[in-house]
Amino acid sequence: MSKKIHDVIIIGGGIAAHTSAIYTARASLNPLIISSIEPDQLSLTNEVENFPGFPKGVLGPELVKNAKEQAKRFGAEYIEGLADSFKKNDKYFEVGVEKNNYKARTVIISTGASARRLNIEGEDKYFGRGVSTCATCDAALFRDKEVLVVGGGDSAMEESLVLYKFAKKITIVHRRDEFRASKIMQDRVLKLKDKINVVWDSIPTEVLGETLVNGIKIKNVKTNEESTIKCDGMFLAIGHNPNTKIFEKEIKLDKTGYIITGSRSKTNVEGVYAAGDCQDPIFRQAITSAGSGCKAAIEAERYIEHLKAKGEYK
Ligand code: NAP
Repeated sequence: MSKKIHDVIIIGGGIAAHTSAIYTARASLNPLIISSIEPDQLSLTNEVENFPGFPKGVLGPELVKNAKEQAKRFGAEYIEGLADSFKKNDKYFEVGVEKNNYKARTVIISTGASARRLNIEGEDKYFGRGVSTCATCDAALFRDKEVLVVGGGDSAMEESLVLYKFAKKITIVHRRDEFRASKIMQDRVLKLKDKINVVWDSIPTEVLGETLVNGIKIKNVKTNEESTIKCDGMFLAIGHNPNTKIFEKEIKLDKTGYIITGSRSKTNVEGVYAAGDCQDPIFRQAITSAGSGCKAAIEAERYIEHLKAKGEYK
């Protein structure tokens, strides 16, 4: 185990983590950022049109990459790896990353959230063989093919718009009779009637295929009527689960696993803050993630000052 005690460890690799890194690095706290190789949500997004300061929009991956470079310019140190344990000691916190252990006086958790799965028959078997949770990553594989998009939120609209450039036909399957997506996104999708159609009040029940997906069984939840849609792929856009498992012993989570923070990004443990999607079941926007990363960083800086003032900074 490394003997060094860092002032701040930031766990995560999205816009919240990089924003915390920029602020804490500029405050001379020499943050260590532990990021897994799994891409953050914004890096899986295409065009971001609502991040202030970019009148023509900005690509999600570019925004994240630039934020990371900005943090590095102020001395933030990045290591790649999956944080797999978290422990609170008397004077510091320990974060395990595979076989290594890192210590810090404060920790900012920005571990994000991962795409939810349906848990239906055939879904695991055909994951990567037609079943996907990321159109930005996989849409090009479905050129001139027929695909299903499952969900009725902004992500489902966005996935459909990405797929529209490649696929021959897109069927959105939604479990209710109205979308929850923002009006602007719905309007964009619903006017593309040449390729996109919607099956309302329905849920997928089984993924069919041979080597690759060749159809999805669906059920109308109002009539219980079952049918099969012939298609080559299924994109899931049914929300996300927060990546908070390793914190559940020490940090208070809500019943769906999101870290409970107050308005100041504080968790129930002094010195531990949370930012971004892992603590936000409601807004989940790039700008709110960045904002919470900023708040967490300022609170961490204040906490370090407080330790120094009390003579407890060792
Ligand atoms: P979301 O808003 O939670 O929508 C998830 C959708 O999946 C809902 O329509 C939900 O149905 C459906 N669903 C959930 N579980 C399901 C299940 N087991 N079977 C079938 N359907 C299921 O998630 P999201 O679309 O990922 O968006 C999350 C947040 O990110 C939102 O705040 C959104 O505005 C934001 N976002 C914004 C943009 C943008 O502005 N361009 C893009 C992407 C995401 P119900 O509607 O019936 O609950």
